[in-house]
Amino acid sequence: MQKQQPLTDFSEITPSAAIRTETHGWRAKCLQRLIRLDLPVPRTVALPSSTVRAIAAGTPVHCEAILAHFGEGPLISVRPSPVNPDWGGPATVLNIGLNHARHARLVETQGQAAADELFLRFVQGYAVHVARLDPDMFEGLDAGPGALREALRAYRDEMDEDFPEDPARQLAEVLRSMARAWEGTTARLLRQAKGAPEDAALGLVVQQMAQGIGQGISGSGVVQFIDPVTGQPQVTGRYLGQSQGRDALKRTEAMYLTRDPRGPSLEDIAPDLFAELLRHGRACRDRLREEMQIEFTIEDGRLSVLDAVKVARSSRATLRVAVALADDGIIDRNEAVLRVEPRALSELLHPQVDPRGPRDVFVRGIAASPGAATGRIVFSSQAAQASASRGEPCILVRRETTPEDIRGMHSAVGVLTERGGMTSHAAVIGRGLGLPCIVGCSDLRLDPRDKTLRVPDGRIFREGDTITVDGTSGEALVGAADMLPPALDATFHKLLGWADAVRDIGIRANADTPADAKTARDFSAQGIGLCRTEHMFFDSDRLIVMREMIFADTPADRAAALTRLLPMQRADFVQLFDIMQGLPVCIRLFDPPLHEFLPHSREGLRELAEALDRPLSEVTRRAEALAEFNPMLGMRGVRLGVVLPEIYDMQAQAIFEATVEIGRRADPVVPEIMIPLVSARREVELVKTRIESVAATVRTKTGRDFDYRLGVMVETPRAALRAGEIAQHASFLSFGTNDLTQMTYGLSRDDAGRFMNTYVQRGVFPEDPFHTLDVDGVGELLLIGADRGRQTRDDLTLSICGEHGGNPESIAFCRRAGFDYVSCSPYRVPLARLAAAHLAL
Ligand code: PEP
Ligand code: MG
Repeated sequence: MQKQQPLTDFSEITPSAAIRTETHGWRAKCLQRLIRLDLPVPRTVALPSSTVRAIAAGTPVHCEAILAHFGEGPLISVRPSPVNPDWGGPATVLNIGLNHARHARLVETQGQAAADELFLRFVQGYAVHVARLDPDMFEGLDAGPGALREALRAYRDEMDEDFPEDPARQLAEVLRSMARAWEGTTARLLRQAKGAPEDAALGLVVQQMAQGIGQGISGSGVVQFIDPVTGQPQVTGRYLGQSQGRDALKRTEAMYLTRDPRGPSLEDIAPDLFAELLRHGRACRDRLREEMQIEFTIEDGRLSVLDAVKVARSSRATLRVAVALADDGIIDRNEAVLRVEPRALSELLHPQVDPRGPRDVFVRGIAASPGAATGRIVFSSQAAQASASRGEPCILVRRETTPEDIRGMHSAVGVLTERGGMTSHAAVIGRGLGLPCIVGCSDLRLDPRDKTLRVPDGRIFREGDTITVDGTSGEALVGAADMLPPALDATFHKLLGWADAVRDIGIRANADTPADAKTARDFSAQGIGLCRTEHMFFDSDRLIVMREMIFADTPADRAAALTRLLPMQRADFVQLFDIMQGLPVCIRLFDPPLHEFLPHSREGLRELAEALDRPLSEVTRRAEALAEFNPMLGMRGVRLGVVLPEIYDMQAQAIFEATVEIGRRADPVVPEIMIPLVSARREVELVKTRIESVAATVRTKTGRDFDYRLGVMVETPRAALRAGEIAQHASFLSFGTNDLTQMTYGLSRDDAGRFMNTYVQRGVFPEDPFHTLDVDGVGELLLIGADRGRQTRDDLTLSICGEHGGNPESIAFCRRAGFDYVSCSPYRVPLARLAAAHLAL
């Protein structure tokens, strides 16, 4: 067999070498930038991903040629360099090149203890990460010549050969094991959970070691220049004398870099080196345009910078840093906007547990993702999804989560795990989703089969029990805790202001109540895109009048009940108009089937009979008569408006009278009135005629003129198909993609949860279409409706107001389709503003 030529495709990182992130990975590129900044980076060779792939496939690499870059016998390290630092990678291997000869020289220069320690560490690292021997055999050995001998003997016993002495062979084995580790299934799943593509590639960097163990001031540490939680400027980090790698982060005896209350800091023992680090930090910030964490080593008083990574930080800190860099003129505002992931804003928006309220803590763990949420305990992802489809907030409680739990995590409002740390799956994904999360609650005794949770004080929780996860403190509380609204500061509003300056699609909020409207305004929504008026009739004082209206025997009785509802509705609208201060308010006329307002239990019916002063038998009979086999497709929306037009008349009158009232004391408002569940032009004509006559009456009665806009909600496939003729009578169309999805699929939105999981798992649907807009099917109806509508009227306003309106992918779709605005729940508005800006940049 012909011998394979060893690979020689690698290059030393110099200021001018052709190093690219896509081929050599982020670390190699970052090291080149540090070298260009003149930072004291030890000599480094970068292997591109093509070489690493070939190594994994078994092609030998020309290790002698790599070693030649480092001259005579220095020790070296190998570090992973994927394209994106978040994708992880195999563990770094330090001290490659150590063998007996080198050890003997080190004894002379560094002393016996330091030489033994270095050799021992290398043998341990090599045995575990490269030869893949059982860590138990190599960990916990006491430092000293005995331990080194023992480790070497254990290696020989297990491998049936002596520890390799040849540095080129050591390096070849290290490179091969790291290249193969990257291809392993676990590594692949982990990085894919963090968004890596299937074919994500790995580069490797081979670097000359700066020894942190030896004479003089020697040690290693990390430094960063911001608080990773708040993003405020602050020198943080750790330094540990006589250490290597990231030891300083793991050991409690490590010192702070500055102002250490427990003893001297690095600044105290080596002020010049500390000042040098500060200079390097500033250089990184100014020239790399980012807050970096610098990994450094001090060898006999000389500083080396081994690596710099973006400081891992909370969403709050991400936003603050982006704004600070833009304020300092280091990046421009658009770049600051692009640096903040829209979905990350939810972490800033989440409520927190009110520290002044009662706090019944049942377990403590690691505060892995901030914010707090209350929900019922579920023990599986399936149960979480079922709970979400019922609209019940739930807390997913697991031993630990795995990539298969992603959908369950999406469905939960909070996560609690028995195992794990800050970088475990639950923690990483929780932070990514902005989901309050506590991990590592090792005091919990979880029995998923029994569906119970035992805590140290003996209490037992079961599925369905309500708890609160405080991901900010790492404490789980019994019951529903008092919550504080989210803290939104000036920096947050500043960045969103910059986003607003560039986005080109409007963002409104779905708001039914004055509280919703206030939230919408606080988040700078450009109006209300959907006010579901029926929600106004569920307050107890109104519900009874509503029921009287439903049970009215004659039009006159119905009119009497509606006359009582009128002032209440008018007051609702006055309040909304006041809060929105002239911004558009789109009011949807009554939509649900009437039976939703009736009691469902016998007890409730009896109470109703009493309240209405009618026999129970009659109330029961009338309630049964109103029941429908499929109420979502029955007498609701505009159908009620056609059959019982007095309800819409009352609502229109309330809207117009509120308009007049506001017009008397403030800038005039132009209300938007929206007709739901339309499927035919004639429906719109009938409603429109009556509304026009109500408007005329109010104008005459009040002696004041006003404008209004009438529009149609496109929620049925037929409305989308007939949008051309419907638009003759509508000045706007708003796509209600909840019902439109339901009707396009013929899939009940209230029952889909039962099998959605199976459907997604088997690849029938790529996603739950009620969460992510089905661009192929429902999306085509949107495009058809938009196109036909605009052909009739080119000034037709187009929007979306289903739950999809706040989803970045749906916003992208609507923007491409030329929609004027999207409307989403108030808490999604900041996310939508930022997502829309990202699309425009
Ligand atoms: C819709 O159907 O998309 C919609 C917004 O209306 P609702 O959710 O109230 O049915
Ligand atoms: Mg609807």
